[in-house]
Amino acid sequence: MSIPLLARARQHGDRLAIVDAAGEHSYAEVGAAAWRVASHILNGRDDLREARVAFMVPPGFDYVAVQWGVWLAGGVAVPLCLSHPLPEIEYVLDDTAAEILIVHPDFEAKLRPATAGRDLRFVSTPDALAADEAPLPEIEETRRAMILYTSGTTSRPKGVVTTHRNIEAQITSLIEAWAWRADDRILHVLPLHHTHGIINVLSCALWAGAACEMLHAFDAETVWQRFVESPLTLFMAVPTIYVRLIQAWEGAGEAEQQKRSEACEKMRLMVSGSAALPVSVLARWCEISGHTLLERYGMTEIGMALSNPLHGERRPGTVGQPLPGVDLRLVDENGSLIYEEEAPGQVQVRGPAVFLEYWQRPDATQEAFTDDGWFRTGDVALVEDGYYRLLGRSSVDIIKTGGEKVSALEIEEVLRKHPHVAECAVVGVPDAEWGERVCAAIVCRTDEGLDTETLRVWAKDHLAPFKVPTRCLFVADLPRNVMGKVTKPEVKELFADRS
Ligand code: AMP
Repeated sequence: MSIPLLARARQHGDRLAIVDAAGEHSYAEVGAAAWRVASHILNGRDDLREARVAFMVPPGFDYVAVQWGVWLAGGVAVPLCLSHPLPEIEYVLDDTAAEILIVHPDFEAKLRPATAGRDLRFVSTPDALAADEAPLPEIEETRRAMILYTSGTTSRPKGVVTTHRNIEAQITSLIEAWAWRADDRILHVLPLHHTHGIINVLSCALWAGAACEMLHAFDAETVWQRFVESPLTLFMAVPTIYVRLIQAWEGAGEAEQQKRSEACEKMRLMVSGSAALPVSVLARWCEISGHTLLERYGMTEIGMALSNPLHGERRPGTVGQPLPGVDLRLVDENGSLIYEEEAPGQVQVRGPAVFLEYWQRPDATQEAFTDDGWFRTGDVALVEDGYYRLLGRSSVDIIKTGGEKVSALEIEEVLRKHPHVAECAVVGVPDAEWGERVCAAIVCRTDEGLDTETLRVWAKDHLAPFKVPTRCLFVADLPRNVMGKVTKPEVKELFADRS
């Protein structure tokens, strides 16, 4: 067996690996369960040879057993988003041409219909976990390991393919930079279909021989309770989660506030990323917890690329410097390298952590890389006194809200289906809680205008597949005569003025 993460897990043996609602589980138990899952899905074959295996399993022991089981069997892991409606799941199943779908009993009723008309083996987690152990294939590190879906501007979400070697590089860079240790214990509250939750938290913990305490979903009161009761050393989240934790702390009584603040003292590191951390949130969190959040920058395609230091100055509003093993450069519009400070350019990244390809989209893959192999992130940054500061994305049509990337163009497509909407423009507007709020400027078909609240309610239902957090959708009605005359930056201004 040569999957680096799993080879290391074997060495951790009886150490505590996972804590979930069912209890505590050692590395040896996770490894044995993964072997049983692998044997079940192999179903007599000697190797899945990169067959895609989609799975919907809640955070916890079963999730890890399934993810590792897919890898041990030679398959490509395709973790599904627990909250996605069926059509979005079916999109992923079809795009990956998944052969096997592994489903936890909680999601069986929801996903069973997906097998209709598809050549898909439906596997329930209890069956997979109860299988007898069978021989496993040899897996080379260059093999495809995982496909994660990420929103783009011009098309439906694309599958980002990483190999076992890419994953190893993404993990080891963070192990080194943030000095992960076997006696660390982290609370996991992030979705497990996204790189942040899968690599930065879960895989780093299990690489290090640390313990990972997994919550079913984020809930601010539960997180504070775990902070108080559990011997945690690490916490990592998106800015929106820190905002929620601040709100919950402020809503608590004085004695409880003190208990919560004291609980943070035992932690050695708290990290924020996946969206810009407002300096006001960093400052308030510091007052409450005593921790200066370490902000980092990364992307599904590249893992993490920039980070403030573990030791040394963490500068508010910046994302620090390149992580170990990451080659990073800034390039201007003409493709020339930027050497001087304070000059903005597009961030480009190279190194072993950078993904292999967009699944079955050779054109998109080719476009994403320069001729000499640098990945174009689409993010614009500058260097200020040696620290990188992100300025935004080069495309106004990618919105980062609540840590999730959504495509403005996809949302516009949906809104245009409303019978009263003649035209619309969707933009992201800076917001302390959401990172960016999704704002839709609408031009109505008639002069009567539109009840924006009614449209909001309609949009919530129709936008569910697009990951738009329903509470963060704002709608404004524009006069008909502006149709086609305003640019997106002007629409942004319009919303910024209103907030
Ligand atoms: P995803 O692939 O969903 O993780 O989204 C990656 C994108 O999130 C990046 O391309 C950035 O636009 C954004 N992002 C990640 N970290 C940060 C950060 N610390 N500050 C601002 N934007 C960030």
